[in-house]
Amino acid sequence: MSRQRLYLFDTTLRDGAQTNGVDFTLADKLAIARMLDDLGIDYIEGGYPGANPIDTELFAKRRGLRHTFTAFGMTRRPGRSASNDAGLGALLDAEADAICFVAKSWDYHVRVALETTEEENLASIRDSVRAAKAKGREVLLDCEHFFDGYKAKPDYALACAKAAYDEGARWVVLCDTNGGTLPHEVERIVGAVCAGIPGDRVGIHAHNDTEQAVANSFAAVRAGARQIQGTLNGLGERCGNANLVSIIPTLKLKRDYSEKFEIGVSDEALGRLVRVSHALDELLNRAADRHAPYVGDSAFATKAGIHASAIVKEPATYEHVAPERVGNKRKLLVSDQAGRSNVLAELERIGLSIDKNDPRVSRLLDEVKEREAIGYAYEAADASFELLARRLLGRVPHYFDVEKFDVNVEQRINAKGERVTVSQAVVKLKVGDERLISVAEGIGPVNALDLALRKDLGKYQSFITGLELTDYRVRILNAGTQAVTRVLIESADETGDRWTTVGVSANIIDASFQALMDSIVYKLVKSGAPA
Ligand SMILES: [Zn+2]
Repeated sequence: MSRQRLYLFDTTLRDGAQTNGVDFTLADKLAIARMLDDLGIDYIEGGYPGANPIDTELFAKRRGLRHTFTAFGMTRRPGRSASNDAGLGALLDAEADAICFVAKSWDYHVRVALETTEEENLASIRDSVRAAKAKGREVLLDCEHFFDGYKAKPDYALACAKAAYDEGARWVVLCDTNGGTLPHEVERIVGAVCAGIPGDRVGIHAHNDTEQAVANSFAAVRAGARQIQGTLNGLGERCGNANLVSIIPTLKLKRDYSEKFEIGVSDEALGRLVRVSHALDELLNRAADRHAPYVGDSAFATKAGIHASAIVKEPATYEHVAPERVGNKRKLLVSDQAGRSNVLAELERIGLSIDKNDPRVSRLLDEVKEREAIGYAYEAADASFELLARRLLGRVPHYFDVEKFDVNVEQRINAKGERVTVSQAVVKLKVGDERLISVAEGIGPVNALDLALRKDLGKYQSFITGLELTDYRVRILNAGTQAVTRVLIESADETGDRWTTVGVSANIIDASFQALMDSIVYKLVKSGAPA
């Protein structure tokens, strides 16, 4: 049986840009559009030309994407002709392959928000689709509030969709704009729509207000829809849009879908999904969701001892898909709850083969337990665990010594009369026979220390140029009678690899220093820097 083509439509740059705290620059938008293009997303919605300067500029020229670059905007305003509507004019002039119009399909909104008649709204849909087709654009119609509209007045909601279809729109997209519709309702209503409009012309646009945007998208597909709209990492206003990063692997790896449907994302591109997801977070300067399905750091992490030994023998026992398919990796958490089998499995994963009866395994386990008792968290700090294990097995070169460091924080009034806080760090290093002193200023003491440490590592400097810190987390713990600080630092490098290191001390600078040192040493080991 030949598979049916299912199309993916990304609206990260339009609906995703509505997210609280997200503000894309033109450069951000272009970078994300290219990322989506490489991933194999069929439609990339860039924004709303005419509505703001960045989107107008984005559509001012061709952007050379392989996939369908789509402009978004409203149908002509009531009471105007298509040729006499400036907003529609800007949309028609946009350098886009397709135009996605948004129109009301709920009679209540037509009356209250648009203050026009149902018939005039239908005429506006028909005129707008016709004008865009005359310009040679592929046309989509987003039927806003479709599900609420259908529940209130099914004939009218259907008439809106049908008006666009009859006029030759390639896609009629059913939007759950308020995000409150449930999967069984979506399935029933999409089924009713597909009785009048062929499913390969119907799309679904789901919001996540009941945390079922992904489930709603699949419900629509089961009922016949053949286009799914969503965003990377489920970005979007309120609770977000349907998350394409979860939808794509489900379509490709779950047999009920993979045997029936084909999408534009190749197996090779699927293997880069973790990187795509993290790249967006980095661009937004936010920490990745560790518990995100498929791509999160914890998506394939197992803690309990009995599970760990089973996973090593037969991964399928505790994994619903193979982590490598999406570019993720299996992680066996080493913690005080864990047994020998976790430690052995983790040693095997990092490539340190050792006989399971070797006494050093028990020593490592004891060491992990002792350190976790005073606040270290190795299950969250894979790189620090690896260094601890390598040191115990005698395989970490002695690269450099920090002879001394000094961090100072000064608050003063500057020349403009403003109160400013300045942090400065001085680090004295010994690399081989060379003695080095680095000084750096940072936005805080830890930042200053980090910059000074990585400023000049002598002969090792070239090995750490791609190193960057991507997340910094601090927690105050009560160990015994004393409060201690635990610092977790996440780092990444030019290859896209990420790792986490840990430091614990009564002093936050000291804890940060330990975690920073582990990160640098880990990077040197990983890059194969010579001793
Ligand atoms: Zn939306």
